[in-house]
Amino acid sequence: MDYVIPAPPVPAVPVRGGGLFPVRRIFCVGRNYAAHAREMGHDPDREPPFFFTKPADAIVTGGADMPYPTATKDLHHEVELVVAIGTGGVDIPTSSAQRHIWGYAVGLDMTRRDVQGEAKKLGRPWDMGKGFDLSAPIGELVPVGETGILTKGPIRLVVNGGERQTGDLSDLIWTVDEVISALSRLVRLEPGDLIFTGTPEGVAAVQPGDVLEGSIAGLPPLKTKITA
Ligand code: MN
Repeated sequence: MDYVIPAPPVPAVPVRGGGLFPVRRIFCVGRNYAAHAREMGHDPDREPPFFFTKPADAIVTGGADMPYPTATKDLHHEVELVVAIGTGGVDIPTSSAQRHIWGYAVGLDMTRRDVQGEAKKLGRPWDMGKGFDLSAPIGELVPVGETGILTKGPIRLVVNGGERQTGDLSDLIWTVDEVISALSRLVRLEPGDLIFTGTPEGVAAVQPGDVLEGSIAGLPPLKTKITA
């Protein structure tokens, strides 16, 4: 049978050294650094990991601009380690989670904080606060064979040359292994899935014209400009 409309293109992240990683789904972890959980008004010690999603075609690649989205006056940056899944699985034990990692990138979980805040207050879904168009700028992916398993090292976001967010991957409340294991008990992970693993403290608003530069030790930096 033929498609009755043209099939949509497969979103894909460029890989350092060549090639494209096709994106199936985007999962994100909430509140995974203690200092960020506290700045959002939560106790980091007592809450298990929870997840939300963005559409696969929310990615912004190749250092392209990110247009300031509609329906918000409070667009926030959240710099995050992104894990790309190369091998699927369900009920993955923490001890073998690393076998499912294809590689890593620097990502931005851009957030309509006002929309998210209203949803929280009313007990409604976060989708329109988090999963809007072009809400997931991402840098080049690097295969795990080139980086090794990433468990520590600085993670940082600079806006217009000034430091906004800084942390260390070792500060993750739930490690990447634990995140993969927990998520695989909720859904069957598949090759092509991306997991945004949470953001350190210092989230704040950006404006059109701002230039965002995210970095994590050992990965290509991510740069994007917010346009009107
Ligand atoms: Mn986030």
